[in-house]
Parts: sequence; structure tokens; C-alpha cells
Amino acid sequence: MLTNLQARDVETLIHPYTNLVAVRETGPLILERGKGVWVTDVDGKPYLEGMAGLWCTALGYGNEELVEAAAEQMRKLPFTHIFGGKSHDPAIELAEKLKEMAPVPISKVFFTCSGSEANDTQMKLVWYMNNALGRPKKKKIISRMRAYHGVTIASASLTGLAGNHNDFDLPIAGVRHTTCPHHYRLAEAGESEEDFATRLAADLEALILAEGPETVAAFIAEPVMGAGGVIVPPKTYYPKIQAVLEKYDVFFIADEVICGFGRLGTTFGSEAMEMKPDSISIAKALSSAYQPIGAVMIPEIMYEALLTESAKLGSFGHGYTYSGHPVAAAVAVKTLEIYERESIFERVRAKIPQFAARRAALEDHPLVGEARGAGLVAGIELVADKKTKHQFDPKLGVAAKTVAFCQQEGLILRNVFGDAVTICPPLVISPAEIDELFDRLTRALDRTLDWAVREKLL
Ligand code: PMP
Repeated sequence: MLTNLQARDVETLIHPYTNLVAVRETGPLILERGKGVWVTDVDGKPYLEGMAGLWCTALGYGNEELVEAAAEQMRKLPFTHIFGGKSHDPAIELAEKLKEMAPVPISKVFFTCSGSEANDTQMKLVWYMNNALGRPKKKKIISRMRAYHGVTIASASLTGLAGNHNDFDLPIAGVRHTTCPHHYRLAEAGESEEDFATRLAADLEALILAEGPETVAAFIAEPVMGAGGVIVPPKTYYPKIQAVLEKYDVFFIADEVICGFGRLGTTFGSEAMEMKPDSISIAKALSSAYQPIGAVMIPEIMYEALLTESAKLGSFGHGYTYSGHPVAAAVAVKTLEIYERESIFERVRAKIPQFAARRAALEDHPLVGEARGAGLVAGIELVADKKTKHQFDPKLGVAAKTVAFCQQEGLILRNVFGDAVTICPPLVISPAEIDELFDRLTRALDRTLDWAVREKLL
């Protein structure tokens, strides 16, 4: 029986990434307020927000400094744009700060409102650059199966998940997907992580050669895949992949939308994963999600190409009304200031051993095939048979069941791909709350096991 608010919801809203049939029956969980890592629903029930919303509220809820930064900027100048030679202080300050923090030499910053727009922009900039460099055929972009790069027409094409392509007539032309670096599922019998990484680099090289290196412009990768189920590549994967990219002059784009700003214990995920990208996409934790903002950070060689091409065309013809929105930029500046002042990333590093130990211990559970992760992000893959890694019938929605039990236990997690439950708490989670999160998840897994036994699924 739906509450009045739930009934009004299903009569009016289309929920993103939702089973639109099921939600009409169950109604949505309607949240009202938050403090720290906790959110409360309209009935006053508290939940530990184990996904930081959508991998984004890094500083948790109720941060008054961020509220004040937004209010102050709104009072001063709620909007002005940066088109046609205009600018404002928050955008300038934010771009300067990002250049300082970047893990590789960055020349300029372009602001967007989301991660999807950042990756869309990346694709356009690569095309634009290669036209300026006089190589108009070099335009294809290689992504990976199970990658997540967004949902606009271009970024959904880069995304390597069938659910983002089916019935949307995607991917668009010129996008290819290479092998996902998931050792647990994709390694051959007895294949070491090192050998697996070598094979994946060979797969990439074979794809580039088959397409023709003169047609391949860029490769895009998340340091650790998020929405694809939290896939952590083998240690030597990126150095081997990068050697191939360098050999064929393929531009390397890091999608740091989840891993950027401390998630893996380093400022950028690229540092933790030994990546040396040419350009970087960011969003989410850039403002701790208190305002929608993303960005693309580009190298000098790309900036020079933009200069050349826009001189020819009269103007650089790209930009969003809200590129560098002053309120979003002011909140992002404050967010970065808090990360630094409160040593948030250092404190993440101190919490990683406890988080990793609790994560790894889940592999003792009869339903858990792999409890993988890095930093403060994890993917818990449920299996019907641990020895054979046999999966449940996807129609059973076993991980979705676990997530529903978590919700009953007062814990918000997500099931994004297959039977993986993902965990990505606010970076400010305390050691006691980390224990609370894993205790509640363990209870939900036990309840899933009881259910699976009752339903004779094992
Ligand atoms: N890239 C990655 C790695 C992401 O995780 C996401 C969002 N989950 C995006 C891009 C898209 O960002 P947005 O939803 O802000 O468009």
C-alpha cells in the first residue's frame, strides 16, 4: 500500500535507472534529511548511506561550510556565465586549484555540469584536436566492456553496459569496447593476474591494429570501474595498456568521476593505479555533490590545438550555459579547501586497512564469490556456487534482494551490475560506522541466504 507521497510520486515521476513497473508497486524510498553519513526518510527512520548517494557525497551530509559557501555566492552573484570572454572569481580560483592538484601536467580546465558532459566534451575535444593536427581520420574512441562513462548519446556509447545501449540504438559509430580487466570472471584457468594483464594489453593492440592505428584517437578508462561492479584491474594492467597507447599515438583519457578526490586514498585514482593520462574527467566529489559540477582537465598539446582550430573557425564552439556556474564553482572551491584543511585523503588512507579487512572477511560468507575493492569502494559479487563461480539466474535479482534487506536493516547500498552489491560510503565515515556498515550488510547477506534456501535456489 503506497503512502500518499509515494502515490503522487509514481503518478508524476520517471525515475532514472529504476524498474518502472516494480516501483509502481513498492513506491520509492523518500528521504528527507541527512547528517554525517546518515540520512533519514520521511517516517524518521535513519539509514547509513553506504553509497554516498551515487558515489558522490564525499563529505557526507549537513556540511554547513558548503551550505554557507553556496548561500554567500548566491547573495553576491547567483549567476554569470563565462562565454565570450566573461569570467568570475570562483571559476578562476577553482581552475587554478585543479591545475595545482592534477596528477599530470594540465594546461587548462573546461567546466561542465556532470560526468556525462565531461566525457562528451572529452570526445569532442579529441575530434577537434585531431582535425587541428591535420589527421581527420584519427577519430575512433576505445572504451571497455562494463565501463561506465555516462548517459548522453556519446558518453552512453562509451559506457560498456548493454542496459545503456539496448533500445537506445547505441553505441554510435566510431566507439569500440575492449576486454574488461576482471580477473575473477575473465581469467583463463591458472592464468596469473600478470599474464591476464599482458593478454588484455595484447587484446587492445589487436583491436587497434584491426581498426587501423591511423583511425584510433583515444582510449578512456576509469582507474577502478564503478558502476560496472567495482572492477579493480591487476597491478600491472595500466603500465602495459599505456605502452600500447604510446606505440600507436592514442590519447589516454582518465575518467576520474568516481575515483577523483580521495576515493582510493590518493588525490586522484590515476596515482593509485599507476596511470599517466593525457586528460582527465572529474565530477561528483569535486563539490561533494552539494552542487552539480564536472570538468575536463586538458594538456597543453590539446589546448594549442583548440587555439589553432578556433582561430580558423572564429570561435571555440562548445559550452554549457552552466559551465563554471558561480555557485557550483564556489561550493567546489570550498570542498577542495576542506579536503586539504581536514587532511581528508590522509584520513581515508588510515581507514583503508579496516575497510579492506571487513570487505575481505565477507568472502567467508556462503553467498559471496568475490569481495573486491580498493580504497573506500567495494563490490561484493554474489554467486550460487563459490567453487564453480556459477551465477544465479539474473531474473531472480538476488543482489537486488540483498540491497532490499540492507534497506530494512537501515543501510543504503546499490546493485548496479549483475549480482554485485556496491559500497562507496562518504569519505568522512568513522571507524565505528565502517563496522556498522559491514555488520548490517552481513545481516542482510544472512537474510538473503535464508531466503535462497527457502526458495531452493542453492
Ligand atoms: N563516469 C563515471 C566513472 C561515473 O561513475 C559516472 C556516474 N556514475 C559518470 C561518468 C556520469 O556522471 P553523471 O551521472 O554526473 O553524468
